[in-house]
Amino acid sequence: MADKITMSASGVLNVPTNPIIPFIEGDGIGVDIWPAAKLVLDAASKKYGIDIEWKEVLAGEKAFNETGNWLPDETITDFRDHLIGIKGPLTTPIGGGFRSLNVALRQILDLYVCLRPVRWFQGVPSPVKQPELVDMVIFRENTEDVYAGLEVEAGTPDAEKLRAFLKEGYGWAIPEMSGIGIKPISKANSERLIRAAIKYALDHNRPSVTIMHKGNIQKFTEGAFMKWGYELVRNEFADVAVGWNDCGGKPGSKLLVKDAIADIIFQQVLTRPKEFDVIASTNLNGDYLSDALAAQVGGIGIAPGANINYITGHGIFEATHGTAPKYAGQDKVNPGSVLLSGVLMFEHLGWTDAANDIVRALEATIAEKIVTYDFARQMEGATEVKCSEFASAIVDRL
Ligand code: NAD
Repeated sequence: MADKITMSASGVLNVPTNPIIPFIEGDGIGVDIWPAAKLVLDAASKKYGIDIEWKEVLAGEKAFNETGNWLPDETITDFRDHLIGIKGPLTTPIGGGFRSLNVALRQILDLYVCLRPVRWFQGVPSPVKQPELVDMVIFRENTEDVYAGLEVEAGTPDAEKLRAFLKEGYGWAIPEMSGIGIKPISKANSERLIRAAIKYALDHNRPSVTIMHKGNIQKFTEGAFMKWGYELVRNEFADVAVGWNDCGGKPGSKLLVKDAIADIIFQQVLTRPKEFDVIASTNLNGDYLSDALAAQVGGIGIAPGANINYITGHGIFEATHGTAPKYAGQDKVNPGSVLLSGVLMFEHLGWTDAANDIVRALEATIAEKIVTYDFARQMEGATEVKCSEFASAIVDRL
């Protein structure tokens, strides 16, 4: 009998060897990449006596076609009850009542961390000279900032009302026909995000956490994010971590917490990648940086991600790319992103041996130049294989 993953009162995940894990196949190329990833995940976990019972839950087009609902309540309930799940990409419904299904899932389950580890895998074609120097983990705040969805459309009565209120109450002269968005950044949500990043860095022996922000311009949102981060280090982590200004950049044996302005960090991750380990960022900055860094190590076809609430134990691991509709059903695209999200999930569940085996087998496959079209077109002498064949080749090398 398969069991649920649970969370103990002390905040530790209890993971049975035969857990039930809900999955969303995903729209578009989901039909190709999910079965390929599952093949590898099952083969690797079974080697270690782990028997996952995958439970399909519906969201996106498949859900809409079968139930008339883009995000059925049962799906939310299943993720809520089973704590940990995985998903392929989802179409963003146009006029379906959702801004984005991904954002809805994150907000409903309060998955406040978007975790994006970015590292290079041996053999993957990259546009930079030394992709192996990139080994960073982004903790992107997932619940607020301009993603909170607080926007009014230019010219609507709501926009005019807000414009008048801002003029009267604050003296802010916003031009006519302006769309207006609100960017809330709260102390509590900034702290829980940065706290998670610091704990991760400590647990994984990472030497630094960089707080990424645009605080030189947006002082009370982005700047506050940085300020609250440094205060958190002093208030909660003084014995194990230290802020740059409190140690002159010399942390001794402690974890160093520093900060970087959002624009310059894009230059520095290219020119001085060794200086970055864990990066804690606000929502929009983290979105940009995640994709830029993914490109540096081989593109979004292979970048994993997860959305996690470390307090409740909920986590949804996900492919970071979209549904790539023009390739859907062709058994052509790279299953790497959803597969490596599964690897990230295995690590999160404590199954490090199985996770490491998959990474080794993936690297061995790529080293033999057995790759899907996206890599094949950038590699000389590559053997281009289908999505499913790539997965089988990985399984053969486990
Ligand atoms: P996309 O990521 O789906 O595709 C852009 C391009 O990236 C593709 O044409 C393809 O060339 C390449 N690509 C993507 N995944 C690949 C893979 N696994 N292997 C090889 N190449 C790959 O982005 P889009 O076209 O902007 O969005 C399509 C749909 O996906 C939209 O409805 C969008 O809202 C949605 N979307 C969903 C997610 C998500 O569910 N997390 C993320 C982004 C976009």
